[in-house]
Amino acid sequence: MSRFWSQHVAGLTPYTPGEQPKIDRLLKLNTNEHPYGPSPRALEAIRQCADDRLRLYPDNESTALRLAVAAYYDVKPDQVMPGNGSDEVLAHVFNALFRHDGRPLLLPDITYSFYRTYCKLFDIPTRLIPLADDFSIRPEDYLNLDIKPAGIIFANPNAPTGMALELEQIERIARGNPDVAVVVDEAYVDFGAQSAVSLLERCPNIVVIHTFSKSRALAGMRVGYSVASREITEGLLRVKDSFNSYPLDSLAIAAAVASIEDHAYFESSTRKIVEARQFLSQQLETIGFEVLPSKTNFVFAHHPAHDAAELAAKLREEGILVRHFQAPRISQYLRITVGTHEQCARLCNTLSELTLRTG
Ligand SMILES: *Cc1c(COP(=O)(O)O)cnc(C)c1O
Repeated sequence: MSRFWSQHVAGLTPYTPGEQPKIDRLLKLNTNEHPYGPSPRALEAIRQCADDRLRLYPDNESTALRLAVAAYYDVKPDQVMPGNGSDEVLAHVFNALFRHDGRPLLLPDITYSFYRTYCKLFDIPTRLIPLADDFSIRPEDYLNLDIKPAGIIFANPNAPTGMALELEQIERIARGNPDVAVVVDEAYVDFGAQSAVSLLERCPNIVVIHTFSKSRALAGMRVGYSVASREITEGLLRVKDSFNSYPLDSLAIAAAVASIEDHAYFESSTRKIVEARQFLSQQLETIGFEVLPSKTNFVFAHHPAHDAAELAAKLREEGILVRHFQAPRISQYLRITVGTHEQCARLCNTLSELTLRTG
């Protein structure tokens, strides 16, 4: 604690991102980045924008991106709020929708850890709802509550489990809590789950969060957005414009628009990752891992005979990074990003040797 800090800074617990070290022949399977690059059309759009016009401020409303997103999901542009990565969008969501006089936000005990970081930052109490023993979210745990919550948030598919809810389960949660925002973080939805955007007409309290960092391979550009009712979006935009009116630079807007318009590249690269996920899961099971059913670009796996932290450390010595969380219930699991087929094979060969050597 420094005397210069605002008081609440001492109590913050910052999010710890997966590491980005500089090691030769490094295989990074720890932060769910895309193994193939962004759409070539996105790269070309960036080149086309890199000129004298960069002296101008970007469009503060990111109109081109809002139109492209609206066309893609068949919603109206004023239902879309862009942000500098979905983490920033989430910050505005917490600030604008979840601060209700000390009422608690409901969230799963195991989910994206940034949610609890934002609760600290914005002074929002939490009530953690344990996942079922099989790591699924049980909709009934979010219904008929003894309190009025400030809101509900979960990732679908959930992270780091990779497991997804069906749309009718999300609808039950939203309809059971019609007076609060139910936020569905769909960072991984494109890898096999269904988007709750299609529920918005029937459930106006749903807020869907998307990112270009995972399925669109643009983590370095920092682009995310929310899709919600006009009423909710107007509140989010108020907060955004009270914080930063230019969250997206002009290169990011151009890249994101070109990416969302390149259906063919998106579909073929997503399909390759889904195929590699199948291969990776089967190989891991052959080595003796138990693998949760994943709808994402990562798998969450556990070996009954090997300590997960030790395996992660040994993989690191071999130049392969995976993610291990020192957290209750999941400390014996590894979260492994699905890379190319070759990368998955290298990981499995290494794991196979490691588990034979010490098994
Ligand atoms: C990666 C991730 C994000 C953050 O995405 P950015 O757009 O890169 O900030 C948000 N939510 C979940 C669940 C994620 O896995």
